[in-house]
Amino acid sequence: MSDHYVKVKVQLEQMKSLGQDAEKEGVDAEQVPVSSPTASDSPDPSSITIPATDASKPRSKSRSKPGKDDKNSSGKQISDLSLHGSVVSAAAEKNLNRLGYERTLHIRGTGKILQGKKETNGNYVTIHASKNNQEARREDGFKLARKRRPVTVDTSKAKTSLEALKISIRQLKWKEFPLGRRAACDIYWHGVSFHDNENIVSGQVNKFPGMIEMLRKINMSRAVRTMQELFPEEYDFYPRSWILPEEYQQFSTQIRMVKENDATVNPTFIVKPDGGSQGDGIYLIRDPSDLKLMAGSQAKQSVVQEYIQKPLLIDKLKFDIRLYVLIKSLEPLEIYIAKEGLTRFCTEPYQEPSQKNLSHVFMHLTNYSLNVHSGNFVHSDSQSTGSKRTLSSVLYRLAAKGVDIKRVWSDIIALVIKTAIAVVPELKVYYQADIPPGKPGPTCFQILGFDILLMKNLKPVLLEVNSNPSMRIEHEQEVAPGVFEYVPSPVDEEVKVGVIRDTLRLMDPGHRKPIIAQIRAGGFEHGEEIPMEAESQERSPEENGSLPSLCLKQVYPKYTKQFNYLRLVERIAALFIRFLGVKGNMRLGPTAFRTFIRTCKLSNSNFTMASVDILYIDITRRWSGAMPDSREAGMGLQAFVEAFFYLAGRRFKSLALKEQVVSLLELCEAQLGPQSGVEDRRSLSCSRALPRAVKAQTLCLTNPQLGSPAPLRRAASQDYRLHQRLKPRTLRANVEN
Ligand code: ADP
Repeated sequence: MSDHYVKVKVQLEQMKSLGQDAEKEGVDAEQVPVSSPTASDSPDPSSITIPATDASKPRSKSRSKPGKDDKNSSGKQISDLSLHGSVVSAAAEKNLNRLGYERTLHIRGTGKILQGKKETNGNYVTIHASKNNQEARREDGFKLARKRRPVTVDTSKAKTSLEALKISIRQLKWKEFPLGRRAACDIYWHGVSFHDNENIVSGQVNKFPGMIEMLRKINMSRAVRTMQELFPEEYDFYPRSWILPEEYQQFSTQIRMVKENDATVNPTFIVKPDGGSQGDGIYLIRDPSDLKLMAGSQAKQSVVQEYIQKPLLIDKLKFDIRLYVLIKSLEPLEIYIAKEGLTRFCTEPYQEPSQKNLSHVFMHLTNYSLNVHSGNFVHSDSQSTGSKRTLSSVLYRLAAKGVDIKRVWSDIIALVIKTAIAVVPELKVYYQADIPPGKPGPTCFQILGFDILLMKNLKPVLLEVNSNPSMRIEHEQEVAPGVFEYVPSPVDEEVKVGVIRDTLRLMDPGHRKPIIAQIRAGGFEHGEEIPMEAESQERSPEENGSLPSLCLKQVYPKYTKQFNYLRLVERIAALFIRFLGVKGNMRLGPTAFRTFIRTCKLSNSNFTMASVDILYIDITRRWSGAMPDSREAGMGLQAFVEAFFYLAGRRFKSLALKEQVVSLLELCEAQLGPQSGVEDRRSLSCSRALPRAVKAQTLCLTNPQLGSPAPLRRAASQDYRLHQRLKPRTLRANVEN
C-alpha cells in the first residue's frame, strides 16, 4: 500500500472518530471538519489581533451588501467555493462547520473518495462517464490508444521537487523517467530554470524562459512601478520601493520631506538585496543614512521598501502567506490559483519597529529558513499549529473571529492577477527570444510562489514572487542531539503534492481544454463570492483513478472583464516584439526603432527623424549605463515603454498618462492593422514582416520645441523615468523563504 493511501486511511479513521465524537455531542457527523482545530488548538479569541471595526466594516463602497453575501454563502455556491469563500461573517458557527467540511472534501478530498461517495460538484462529471460513453470511446481505437498511453515525465532535473513530483506521478499513474529519455517526453520537470535541459524541441517544460530574471526584486519592482504610474489605485498593494543605489537621492529627499512635513511620522524601511532570497542580507532602517551603501563597483543593487508596520497577527506573531499560482499559458493568459497554501510564522512576538528591535529577525521576518533556527520554531504534524501551517487553517481561525475571508480571498485573487499582468509583457519578450515562432520548441507553464502579507486591516500586500518556490516535502530535524535528518513534513506534503499533481493534470496533453467559464461582468469587485467551477477531465476514471477535485482554480481568463483594461503594457510589448526584427533578439536597434516610428506615422515636421534618433540614443544610453557589461546592445522593453510614454505625452498633451498611452496605442494599432492585438499570438511572434500601412494618418505633434536636440534632452532628463534592465545573475535556488 502506498504512503499516500496509508495516509488517507489514517485520515479516514480520524474522520470516523471525529464523527463519533460529534454524534455524542449531537452534531451532524457529516458536517464535522476533519482538519478543523481541536479543542486544544481552537482559536483563542484574545490571541488574534484583528481590529473588529476594520474586519466588520466594508472597505470600499463598491462592496456587495451583506444580504447578498449571506445568500452567496449558502447552498450550491458554497460547495463550488469549496475553501475560501462565503464562510463566516454572520452565521459563524454553522459556516465554520461547513468550511471544515468543504476543506475535507476538496483539499483533503481523498478522504471523501475512500468513503465511496459520489462527487456531486460537477468536477467528476466526465470522470463518471456513463457506460455508453465508455463504449463510444472503445470504438474510437486510435483516439483511445493515445489517451491510454501514460503521460511521460522527465524528472531528471527536478532537484528538490523530486519527492513531491514522484508522489504526484504515482497518483496519476503516469510514467516517470528519472534518468531522462532518449525519445521525447510529454513533460519536462525542471528544478531551477527553463534551461536545465537544453535542446527540448517538443512537449512542455515547467519553467518559462526569463522568469527568474523577471522576478528578481529590482525588475519586479520596476514592472509594478510602471503599472503604478498607469493605475496607481489598482496597484497600491505593492509597498513603495526605491532602487538602490541609483535612486538613493530620491529616496533620501522624499523621506526627509515626509519627516519635515510631519514630525510624528517615523517610517521604517526594509532593505533587500536584489539577488537575495530566504531573508539573506535583509535589514531594517529608520533613516536613509543607515543604508549600508558601498561605493563604486562595490555598490550592491537592492530595493529599499516601505516596511508594513501593522501586520495582522495570530497568537501575537507576524506571519505571511505562500500562495501557489500556476501560469498555464502566456498567450492566451491563463492563471490558476491553488486553494491551499502555506503560512509561515515568526517565532518571536511582534512589536512595531523601534530602534531597539530593528535587528530582531525572528520578530520581523517570516522566512522559514531563518525562523527554523530559532529555539521557538515548532515543527508540527498538525496543519493548524506550529510555525508552518496551511492557509486554510489560518483562514479558518480568521473566519472564527468574524473576518470576511471571502473578501480577503477575492482581494488576494485580484493581487495575483494584477501582478501577473505586470510581469507578462517582458516575459513575452523572453519567450519569443528563446522559442522563436516557427522554430520547434516546447510550450511552457510555471508554478510561482507569491509571498503575501496581510495588514492589520486585512489588506493583502505583495512582498515578492518566487520563480522557484520550494517544493520540498521534508525538512531537516535534529532527531538526536547533534544528529540531523530529513523527516517528512505533513503540512508541506499536503499542500505541495496537491499543487504539483493538479498542475500536471491541467497540463496533461490528453486533457481537453476546460470550457472557459463564463466571463463575469461585475461581481468580482463587489465582493461577490469567488465561484470555483469544475474543470473538465478528459481521462476516464480508470485512467485517473480516484483523484480529488482540482485544488487549482482558474482565475484568468475567468475574470478577464474585470482586469483586461490593465493590459496596456502588454499591448506596448506586442508592438515592441513586432519590430524586434531578428529572431532571438530582445532589444530594438536604432533602425527598428525608426521603422516603428515611420510605420506608426509618429514623426512629422515637428518631430523629425533626427529627433527620433536623439530620443533613441538618449534613452538607450541611460539604460545601458545602468548595465554596463550587458552583452546585447539596443533598446530593451522597459526602455521602449519609457519612450512610448514619452511619445504619448507629446502627442496627447492634455490627457492623463493612462489616456495618453491608450490613445497612442490605438493610433499605432490602427496603423498596423488588426494583427497588432495582444490576444493574437501570431501578431506577437510570428509575423515579423510589417503589414502594409493602412491609410496614412498625419500626426499633429504639438510641441515644436522638442524638435530640437537641446530641449529634447532637457525634457528627457526631466520626464523620462530612469529604468534599468537587469543583467541575468546566478540562478536562485528553490526558495521556501
Ligand atoms: P526574501 O526573498 O529574502 O525572502 P522577502 O521580500 O520575501 O525577501 O522578504 C523577507 C521577509 O521580510 C518577508 O517574508 C517578510 O516577513 C518581511 N518583509 C518583506 N518586505 C516587507 C515589507 N515591505 N513590510 C514588512 N515586512 C516585510
